Amino acid sequence: MVIDVEEERKEIINRYRRLLRKAKPILKEGDAKLIKRAFTISMEAHKEMRRKSGEPYIFHPLSVAEICVEEIGLGTTSIIAALLHDVVEDTDIQLKDLEQIFGKKIAKIIDGLTKIKGVFEYGTSAQAENFRKMLFTLSEDVRVILIKLADRLHNMRTLESMPRNKQLRVSSETIYLYAPLAHRLGLNAIKTELEDLYLRFTDYPVYRDISNKIDESRASRNKFIKQFVQPIKEELDKLNVECEIKSRPKSIFSIYNKMRKQNIPFEEVYDLFAVRIIIDTPLEQEKSYCWQVYSIVTDYYTPNPDRLRDWISTPKGNGYESLHTTVMAKNGQWVEVQIRTRRMDEIAEKGYAAHWKYKDNGSSHESNLEKWLVKVRELLEKQDLTALEFVDDFRGNLFNEEIFVFTPKGELKTLPIGATALDFAFDIHTDIGAKCIGAKVNQKLVPINHTLKNGDQIEILTSSKQKPNEDWLRFVISPKAKSKIKELLKEDKRNVADDGKEILLRKTKQLKIDVSSRVYEQMRDYFKVNSQFELHYRVGKGLITLNDFKRFKEFKPSSPLKNKAHSEITDVKSIEQEINKVKGRYEDILLIGEDMDVVEYKLAKCCTPIPGDEVFGFVTVNEGIKIHRTTCPNATELLANQGNRVIKAKWTSQHEVAFLTGLKVIGTDRVGLINDVSKVISEELKVNMSSLSFKTDQGIFSGEIMLYVNDTRHLEMLIEKLEKVEGVVKVSRFDSRNNNG
Ligand code: MN
Repeated sequence: MVIDVEEERKEIINRYRRLLRKAKPILKEGDAKLIKRAFTISMEAHKEMRRKSGEPYIFHPLSVAEICVEEIGLGTTSIIAALLHDVVEDTDIQLKDLEQIFGKKIAKIIDGLTKIKGVFEYGTSAQAENFRKMLFTLSEDVRVILIKLADRLHNMRTLESMPRNKQLRVSSETIYLYAPLAHRLGLNAIKTELEDLYLRFTDYPVYRDISNKIDESRASRNKFIKQFVQPIKEELDKLNVECEIKSRPKSIFSIYNKMRKQNIPFEEVYDLFAVRIIIDTPLEQEKSYCWQVYSIVTDYYTPNPDRLRDWISTPKGNGYESLHTTVMAKNGQWVEVQIRTRRMDEIAEKGYAAHWKYKDNGSSHESNLEKWLVKVRELLEKQDLTALEFVDDFRGNLFNEEIFVFTPKGELKTLPIGATALDFAFDIHTDIGAKCIGAKVNQKLVPINHTLKNGDQIEILTSSKQKPNEDWLRFVISPKAKSKIKELLKEDKRNVADDGKEILLRKTKQLKIDVSSRVYEQMRDYFKVNSQFELHYRVGKGLITLNDFKRFKEFKPSSPLKNKAHSEITDVKSIEQEINKVKGRYEDILLIGEDMDVVEYKLAKCCTPIPGDEVFGFVTVNEGIKIHRTTCPNATELLANQGNRVIKAKWTSQHEVAFLTGLKVIGTDRVGLINDVSKVISEELKVNMSSLSFKTDQGIFSGEIMLYVNDTRHLEMLIEKLEKVEGVVKVSRFDSRNNNG
């Protein structure tokens, strides 16, 4: 490439002058001098550098500064920072040099911009983390983020000359973070442009196709609109209202989204464009004028009452004000009509940047700008929708299985949605999890089963006396915490059993019971436990005491256990136990009422409880006591309105009885998947299925399986196994087969 140095110099000066011209209305005395200084330093610093396109590097900072002024509405401080934004990063000039010349404020902004730059070079996996860091830097000065947006916009505009992989990376980062950010700040024109550029660089054929079709349909669209607005315009003229009627097609990206979401061709996107009526009114009469226009429009065309949006009475969070209605045109086509004033229109396009122009005319640009910057920070810090949530919003269903939370030091942790403080504790370290007694979430004390939300900052409280227990398994949801707790419980159980074994041997010795394997067997029968281990464990736990051993000794010689049990059936409890024993099953049952008795019950069909579930009993009119899960869809109603018929119920421990429950399986469809799923259920885990139904839709399959399991732990195991089947994405329990149980 032959470079005409003289030509280039002229072009640089031209661009610099253009920047000054655009900034002129807002410059104070001395500002121009400072800007010139910044420009000179930047030009000197980037002297030898060229962009990938071959252009002199200085074009870039000049353009960024221009975007800051023209499209975002920033002032001198930002112009200087934008001109210098790549200087510290790319050249020998140091921050302290710049601070000396331009002062602390500007140096800080440049520092922020340099840091953010580093942060964004990591690639896509740590985006949320990057985003958080970006917000941290924000607390210094929100200009950092606005200049960064300008920087990104210019980089996207000039992405053509970048290598393909970089185009893809920069584009996806843009659609992931910057476009939503611009939207959040009400910078709609920038947001739309970023989105369109994203599509252009990620799917050019589609981009070109849509953009061609928009061009091709222009003539007929204009004709249609002319007819459509004709009567409205006449009415407005009669009223002497100055107005401009525009019709802008939707952005390429939003048309693309519509086509994809609704799976329709371009021709079927019915709301390709909206008609915008912009009126000039005095500030005080904006609202009434807009509604007057609305009234005129709907005199001629029938409105769809569901599509009326009044963002004048209550503007959107990002400052958007407008009145929208969708009406039926004479040819039967729905047309969206946006009614707004000139002021509202500028805000809609440029965000708050336009806003300050209209605010109290007495104050200077600088002070209005400061007000706006405060507003920007408020927008970003708004509690009801944190930046992270808004990234989540954007990412939609794809990633909303996760939440982002922070350690006291600000380290980011990713947990599954629904995770509790205990999940978080185990995520930090097993020892911390094992000793966790509670947590402080955003400085507030909460129990260990407290469910975490996006953006929470958590400090775990521990005690050396704490020990994991079975209950914990019910409210942790991360696989890591689950498996660690199980491990710890097993270990704990083993220790208890070891102790129990010693105790047993000591006590039996004391009572002169000779513990042969036959006697062990008798003890197991007598104490109704499954195994020697279980026996040791119960002794270790203190559930079987010296007195029990005494009774065992008295009982043992006289009659063999099995006969005795059969002869002593006196109450419901022992009947139940007998039945279980006959079935070859041990333990345990549902205890009902204040005395925790065993009485007859039925399991509710609406929520199909199984042992291990939190349950309650409900006295029905005709069918005795029904057992519901506390999470049953009917529970709230029953507990709230008919509390007098609710009785306490509790499982004593796990059965080997089978209980019917339902599982929902979701995944990506593939050949043989259903087969693999049923194989896991019936063969590997020897579970009985009672019914199985699957459906597939566009490559996603979802299935509902009704099956028999022993208890919640059995169910968890099954879920774990099923989730390992290739293609399965999520397995969850579902509990309302019908709601009339
Ligand atoms: Mn840059």
